[in-house]
Amino acid sequence: MTIRTTLATLLLCTAALPVLAEEVNIYSHRQPELIQPLVDAFTAETGITVNIAFVDKGMAERLVAEGSRSPADLVLTVDIARLTQIVEAGVIQPVESAVLTENIPATLRDPDNNWFGLTSRARIVYASKERVADGEITTYEDLASDKWKGRICTRSGTNDYNIALLSAVIAHKGEEAAKTWAEGLKANLARKPAGGDRDQVKAIWAGECDIAIGNTYYIGQMLSDPEQKEWADSVRIAFPIFEGAGTHLNVSGVAMTKSAPNKDAALKMMEWLSQDEAQKIYAETNHEYPVKPGVARSALVASWGDFTPDSINLEDVASHRAAALKIIEEINFDG
Ligand code: FE
Repeated sequence: MTIRTTLATLLLCTAALPVLAEEVNIYSHRQPELIQPLVDAFTAETGITVNIAFVDKGMAERLVAEGSRSPADLVLTVDIARLTQIVEAGVIQPVESAVLTENIPATLRDPDNNWFGLTSRARIVYASKERVADGEITTYEDLASDKWKGRICTRSGTNDYNIALLSAVIAHKGEEAAKTWAEGLKANLARKPAGGDRDQVKAIWAGECDIAIGNTYYIGQMLSDPEQKEWADSVRIAFPIFEGAGTHLNVSGVAMTKSAPNKDAALKMMEWLSQDEAQKIYAETNHEYPVKPGVARSALVASWGDFTPDSINLEDVASHRAAALKIIEEINFDG
Protein backbone atom coordinates (compact mmCIF):
# COMPACT_ATOMS: atom_id res chain seq x y z
CA MET A 1 0.00 0.00 0.00
CA THR A 2 1.31 3.40 -0.85
CA ILE A 3 1.37 6.13 1.69
CA ARG A 4 -1.35 7.85 -0.27
CA THR A 5 -3.79 4.91 -0.12
CA THR A 6 -3.03 4.31 3.55
CA LEU A 7 -3.90 7.91 4.26
CA ALA A 8 -7.07 7.63 2.17
CA THR A 9 -8.11 4.46 4.00
CA LEU A 10 -7.47 6.14 7.34
CA LEU A 11 -9.53 9.14 6.37
CA LEU A 12 -12.37 6.91 5.20
CA CYS A 13 -12.34 4.96 8.46
CA THR A 14 -12.42 8.18 10.51
CA ALA A 15 -15.30 9.54 8.45
CA ALA A 16 -17.24 6.32 8.91
CA LEU A 17 -17.04 6.49 12.71
CA PRO A 18 -20.07 8.09 14.32
CA VAL A 19 -19.03 11.26 16.07
CA LEU A 20 -20.08 10.89 19.70
CA ALA A 21 -20.52 14.33 21.21
CA GLU A 22 -19.36 14.32 24.80
CA GLU A 23 -21.69 15.79 27.39
CA VAL A 24 -22.06 16.34 31.11
CA ASN A 25 -25.32 16.64 33.02
CA ILE A 26 -25.33 18.77 36.15
CA TYR A 27 -27.86 19.03 38.93
CA SER A 28 -27.17 22.44 40.39
CA HIS A 29 -28.37 23.92 43.60
CA ARG A 30 -26.47 27.03 42.58
CA GLN A 31 -28.37 29.59 40.53
CA PRO A 32 -27.98 29.06 36.78
CA GLU A 33 -26.72 32.61 36.16
CA LEU A 34 -23.82 32.02 38.55
CA ILE A 35 -22.82 28.82 36.79
CA GLN A 36 -23.37 29.85 33.15
CA PRO A 37 -20.08 31.76 32.66
CA LEU A 38 -18.17 28.69 33.85
CA VAL A 39 -20.15 26.34 31.65
CA ASP A 40 -19.63 28.54 28.58
CA ALA A 41 -15.87 28.70 29.12
CA PHE A 42 -15.65 24.94 29.71
CA THR A 43 -17.61 24.13 26.54
CA ALA A 44 -15.60 26.60 24.47
CA GLU A 45 -12.38 24.97 25.60
CA THR A 46 -13.30 21.28 25.53
CA GLY A 47 -16.23 20.99 23.11
CA ILE A 48 -18.12 19.13 25.82
CA THR A 49 -21.80 20.05 26.03
CA VAL A 50 -23.08 20.83 29.52
CA ASN A 51 -26.74 20.45 30.49
CA ILE A 52 -27.82 22.05 33.76
CA ALA A 53 -30.95 21.31 35.75
CA PHE A 54 -31.54 23.75 38.60
CA VAL A 55 -32.60 21.78 41.67
CA ASP A 56 -33.67 24.11 44.46
CA LYS A 57 -34.85 21.61 47.06
CA GLY A 58 -34.62 17.88 47.74
CA MET A 59 -31.42 17.13 45.81
CA ALA A 60 -30.64 13.96 47.78
CA GLU A 61 -34.24 12.73 47.59
CA ARG A 62 -34.36 13.25 43.84
CA LEU A 63 -31.11 11.38 43.23
CA VAL A 64 -32.25 8.52 45.47
CA ALA A 65 -35.60 8.31 43.63
CA GLU A 66 -33.95 8.31 40.21
CA GLY A 67 -31.40 5.71 41.23
CA SER A 68 -29.33 4.22 38.42
CA ARG A 69 -31.64 5.85 35.82
CA SER A 70 -30.55 9.34 36.87
CA PRO A 71 -29.12 11.41 34.00
CA ALA A 72 -27.05 13.43 36.47
CA ASP A 73 -23.25 13.18 36.41
CA LEU A 74 -22.35 15.99 38.78
CA VAL A 75 -23.96 17.82 41.65
CA LEU A 76 -23.02 21.44 42.34
CA THR A 77 -24.18 22.73 45.68
CA VAL A 78 -23.34 24.98 48.61
CA ASP A 79 -22.86 24.29 52.29
CA ILE A 80 -21.09 21.43 53.97
CA ALA A 81 -24.41 20.05 55.29
CA ARG A 82 -25.83 19.61 51.78
CA LEU A 83 -22.62 17.99 50.56
CA THR A 84 -22.63 15.60 53.51
CA GLN A 85 -26.33 14.86 52.95
CA ILE A 86 -25.88 13.62 49.38
CA VAL A 87 -22.89 11.51 50.39
CA GLU A 88 -24.86 9.95 53.25
CA ALA A 89 -27.78 9.27 50.90
CA GLY A 90 -25.49 6.85 49.02
CA VAL A 91 -25.80 8.52 45.62
CA ILE A 92 -22.20 9.76 45.27
CA GLN A 93 -19.03 7.98 44.15
CA PRO A 94 -15.53 8.86 45.31
CA VAL A 95 -13.22 10.35 42.70
CA GLU A 96 -9.49 9.71 42.59
CA SER A 97 -7.77 12.62 40.90
CA ALA A 98 -4.26 13.95 41.39
CA VAL A 99 -5.38 17.24 39.81
CA LEU A 100 -8.15 17.74 42.35
CA THR A 101 -6.04 16.84 45.37
CA GLU A 102 -3.28 19.13 44.19
CA ASN A 103 -5.52 22.12 43.45
CA ILE A 104 -7.82 21.93 46.47
CA PRO A 105 -6.46 22.22 50.04
CA ALA A 106 -7.18 19.20 52.22
CA THR A 107 -9.37 21.20 54.65
CA LEU A 108 -11.75 22.04 51.79
CA ARG A 109 -12.39 18.54 50.42
CA ASP A 110 -13.64 15.23 51.74
CA PRO A 111 -10.84 12.98 53.10
CA ASP A 112 -12.66 10.12 51.32
CA ASN A 113 -12.82 12.05 48.02
CA ASN A 114 -16.62 12.13 47.85
CA TRP A 115 -16.89 15.91 47.56
CA PHE A 116 -14.55 18.73 46.61
CA GLY A 117 -14.82 22.39 47.60
CA LEU A 118 -14.65 24.77 44.62
CA THR A 119 -15.04 28.12 46.35
CA SER A 120 -15.12 29.24 49.92
CA ARG A 121 -17.06 32.01 51.60
CA ALA A 122 -16.74 33.48 55.07
CA ARG A 123 -19.70 33.94 57.41
CA ILE A 124 -18.93 37.30 58.88
CA VAL A 125 -20.46 40.41 60.45
CA TYR A 126 -21.99 43.27 58.48
CA ALA A 127 -21.53 46.38 60.63
CA SER A 128 -23.12 49.80 60.24
CA LYS A 129 -20.52 52.30 59.05
CA GLU A 130 -22.35 55.00 60.99
CA ARG A 131 -23.07 53.33 64.32
CA VAL A 132 -20.30 50.77 64.76
CA ALA A 133 -16.63 51.75 64.93
CA ASP A 134 -14.06 49.91 62.84
CA GLY A 135 -12.66 47.09 64.96
CA GLU A 136 -15.51 47.20 67.46
CA ILE A 137 -16.50 43.59 66.87
CA THR A 138 -13.67 41.07 66.71
CA THR A 139 -15.04 37.70 67.89
CA TYR A 140 -18.12 35.52 67.39
CA GLU A 141 -18.23 35.16 71.18
CA ASP A 142 -18.83 38.92 71.42
CA LEU A 143 -22.16 38.56 69.54
CA ALA A 144 -23.59 37.18 72.80
CA SER A 145 -22.40 40.05 75.00
CA ASP A 146 -24.83 42.57 76.53
CA LYS A 147 -23.17 45.35 74.63
CA TRP A 148 -25.15 44.37 71.52
CA LYS A 149 -28.57 44.12 73.20
CA GLY A 150 -31.28 44.99 70.68
CA ARG A 151 -28.71 45.71 67.96
CA ILE A 152 -28.31 42.43 66.00
CA CYS A 153 -30.24 41.08 62.99
CA THR A 154 -30.01 37.63 61.45
CA ARG A 155 -31.93 35.23 59.25
CA SER A 156 -33.57 32.11 60.72
CA GLY A 157 -31.56 29.99 63.13
CA THR A 158 -32.57 26.91 61.13
CA ASN A 159 -31.00 28.24 57.91
CA ASP A 160 -28.12 26.03 56.74
CA TYR A 161 -25.53 28.81 56.96
CA ASN A 162 -26.49 29.61 60.57
CA ILE A 163 -26.64 25.92 61.49
CA ALA A 164 -23.11 25.49 60.14
CA LEU A 165 -21.93 28.50 62.17
CA LEU A 166 -23.52 27.13 65.36
CA SER A 167 -22.03 23.70 64.55
CA ALA A 168 -18.63 25.39 64.44
CA VAL A 169 -19.33 26.97 67.85
CA ILE A 170 -20.07 23.46 69.16
CA ALA A 171 -16.87 22.13 67.58
CA HIS A 172 -14.84 24.81 69.38
CA LYS A 173 -16.61 25.03 72.75
CA GLY A 174 -18.90 22.06 73.23
CA GLU A 175 -22.71 21.87 73.30
CA GLU A 176 -23.28 23.52 76.71
CA ALA A 177 -21.30 26.62 75.84
CA ALA A 178 -22.80 26.75 72.34
CA LYS A 179 -26.30 26.77 73.80
CA THR A 180 -25.40 29.60 76.17
CA TRP A 181 -23.92 31.50 73.22
CA ALA A 182 -27.04 31.00 71.09
CA GLU A 183 -29.24 32.18 73.98
CA GLY A 184 -27.07 35.27 74.36
CA LEU A 185 -27.30 35.97 70.65
CA LYS A 186 -31.08 35.55 70.70
CA ALA A 187 -31.33 37.97 73.65
CA ASN A 188 -29.47 40.57 71.57
CA LEU A 189 -31.69 40.40 68.49
CA ALA A 190 -33.38 43.61 67.38
CA ARG A 191 -36.20 41.66 65.72
CA LYS A 192 -37.33 38.11 65.06
CA PRO A 193 -35.13 36.31 62.51
CA ALA A 194 -36.57 36.70 59.00
CA GLY A 195 -35.52 36.98 55.36
CA GLY A 196 -32.13 36.22 53.83
CA ASP A 197 -28.70 37.71 54.49
CA ARG A 198 -29.37 40.69 52.20
CA ASP A 199 -32.48 41.59 54.19
CA GLN A 200 -30.29 42.03 57.27
CA VAL A 201 -28.10 44.52 55.38
CA LYS A 202 -31.24 46.42 54.42
CA ALA A 203 -32.30 46.41 58.06
CA ILE A 204 -28.98 47.98 59.09
CA TRP A 205 -29.41 50.61 56.36
CA ALA A 206 -32.94 51.29 57.67
CA GLY A 207 -31.65 51.69 61.24
CA GLU A 208 -33.38 48.61 62.65
CA CYS A 209 -30.13 47.06 63.82
CA ASP A 210 -26.42 47.88 63.92
CA ILE A 211 -24.78 44.55 63.06
CA ALA A 212 -25.89 41.37 61.30
CA ILE A 213 -24.51 37.93 60.47
CA GLY A 214 -24.05 37.10 56.78
CA ASN A 215 -21.91 35.67 54.01
CA THR A 216 -19.25 37.77 52.31
CA TYR A 217 -20.35 37.40 48.67
CA TYR A 218 -23.82 38.91 49.22
CA ILE A 219 -22.17 42.31 49.63
CA GLY A 220 -20.59 41.88 46.19
CA GLN A 221 -23.93 40.89 44.68
CA MET A 222 -25.70 43.82 46.33
CA LEU A 223 -23.14 46.36 45.17
CA SER A 224 -23.89 45.44 41.56
CA ASP A 225 -27.65 45.76 42.06
CA PRO A 226 -28.91 49.34 41.57
CA GLU A 227 -31.58 49.05 44.28
CA GLN A 228 -29.44 47.23 46.84
CA LYS A 229 -26.20 49.17 46.37
CA GLU A 230 -27.22 51.84 48.87
CA TRP A 231 -27.92 49.18 51.52
CA ALA A 232 -24.55 47.54 50.95
CA ASP A 233 -22.78 50.90 51.05
CA SER A 234 -24.12 51.48 54.57
CA VAL A 235 -22.14 48.56 56.03
CA ARG A 236 -18.58 47.38 56.31
CA ILE A 237 -17.42 43.79 56.57
CA ALA A 238 -15.87 42.70 59.86
CA PHE A 239 -14.16 39.32 60.04
CA PRO A 240 -14.81 37.98 63.55
CA ILE A 241 -12.79 35.01 64.81
CA PHE A 242 -13.46 32.30 67.32
CA GLU A 243 -11.26 33.21 70.30
CA GLY A 244 -7.87 31.70 69.62
CA ALA A 245 -8.88 30.45 66.15
CA GLY A 246 -10.13 31.95 62.88
CA THR A 247 -13.11 33.08 60.82
CA HIS A 248 -15.87 30.60 59.93
CA LEU A 249 -15.70 29.35 56.35
CA ASN A 250 -18.12 27.34 54.30
CA VAL A 251 -17.81 26.01 50.76
CA SER A 252 -19.56 25.50 47.50
CA GLY A 253 -18.59 22.15 46.08
CA VAL A 254 -18.96 19.42 43.51
CA ALA A 255 -19.55 15.67 43.70
CA MET A 256 -19.92 12.91 41.11
CA THR A 257 -23.06 10.76 41.21
CA LYS A 258 -22.74 7.03 41.66
CA SER A 259 -24.62 6.41 38.41
CA ALA A 260 -22.84 9.09 36.31
CA PRO A 261 -23.48 8.08 32.67
CA ASN A 262 -20.68 10.36 31.40
CA LYS A 263 -17.99 9.64 33.92
CA ASP A 264 -14.95 10.67 31.83
CA ALA A 265 -16.40 14.00 30.74
CA ALA A 266 -17.64 14.62 34.28
CA LEU A 267 -14.18 14.08 35.71
CA LYS A 268 -12.75 16.45 33.10
CA MET A 269 -15.21 19.10 34.22
CA MET A 270 -14.48 18.60 37.94
CA GLU A 271 -10.77 19.00 37.30
CA TRP A 272 -11.36 22.00 35.03
CA LEU A 273 -13.42 23.72 37.75
CA SER A 274 -10.47 23.44 40.15
CA GLN A 275 -7.88 25.07 37.89
CA ASP A 276 -6.85 28.70 37.53
CA GLU A 277 -9.21 29.85 34.78
CA ALA A 278 -12.37 28.52 36.42
CA GLN A 279 -11.25 29.65 39.85
CA LYS A 280 -10.76 33.14 38.46
CA ILE A 281 -14.26 33.15 36.93
CA TYR A 282 -15.73 32.12 40.30
CA ALA A 283 -13.77 34.88 42.01
CA GLU A 284 -14.85 37.57 39.54
CA THR A 285 -18.51 36.71 38.96
CA ASN A 286 -19.53 35.34 42.35
CA HIS A 287 -17.33 37.33 44.73
CA GLU A 288 -16.22 34.12 46.40
CA TYR A 289 -12.79 33.01 47.56
CA PRO A 290 -10.97 30.71 45.14
CA VAL A 291 -9.93 27.46 46.82
CA LYS A 292 -6.83 26.98 44.67
CA PRO A 293 -3.86 28.64 46.36
CA GLY A 294 -2.35 31.46 44.34
CA VAL A 295 -5.49 32.39 42.38
CA ALA A 296 -6.19 36.09 42.91
CA ARG A 297 -9.32 37.31 44.66
CA SER A 298 -11.45 39.84 42.79
CA ALA A 299 -10.46 43.47 43.45
CA LEU A 300 -13.61 43.99 45.51
CA VAL A 301 -13.11 40.86 47.63
CA ALA A 302 -9.44 41.77 48.13
CA SER A 303 -10.52 45.25 49.31
CA TRP A 304 -12.32 43.65 52.26
CA GLY A 305 -8.91 42.68 53.63
CA ASP A 306 -7.21 39.54 54.82
CA PHE A 307 -8.38 37.23 57.55
CA THR A 308 -7.39 33.99 59.22
CA PRO A 309 -9.70 31.17 58.18
CA ASP A 310 -10.81 28.80 60.92
CA SER A 311 -8.65 25.70 60.66
CA ILE A 312 -11.38 23.36 61.87
CA ASN A 313 -12.23 20.65 59.35
CA LEU A 314 -15.61 21.05 57.64
CA GLU A 315 -16.38 17.38 58.27
CA ASP A 316 -16.05 18.14 61.96
CA VAL A 317 -18.45 21.08 61.58
CA ALA A 318 -20.96 18.89 59.72
CA SER A 319 -20.87 16.23 62.44
CA HIS A 320 -22.47 18.69 64.92
CA ARG A 321 -25.43 19.58 62.71
CA ALA A 322 -28.04 17.57 64.63
CA ALA A 323 -26.87 19.03 67.96
CA ALA A 324 -26.99 22.55 66.50
CA LEU A 325 -30.55 22.07 65.23
CA LYS A 326 -31.57 20.75 68.64
CA ILE A 327 -30.22 23.87 70.38
CA ILE A 328 -32.06 26.15 67.93
CA GLU A 329 -35.32 24.31 68.67
CA GLU A 330 -34.79 24.12 72.42
CA ILE A 331 -34.23 27.83 72.81
CA ASN A 332 -36.86 28.70 70.19
CA PHE A 333 -34.35 30.91 68.46
CA ASP A 334 -36.77 32.20 65.83
CA GLY A 335 -39.64 32.76 68.32
FE1 FE B 1 -26.04 31.97 49.55
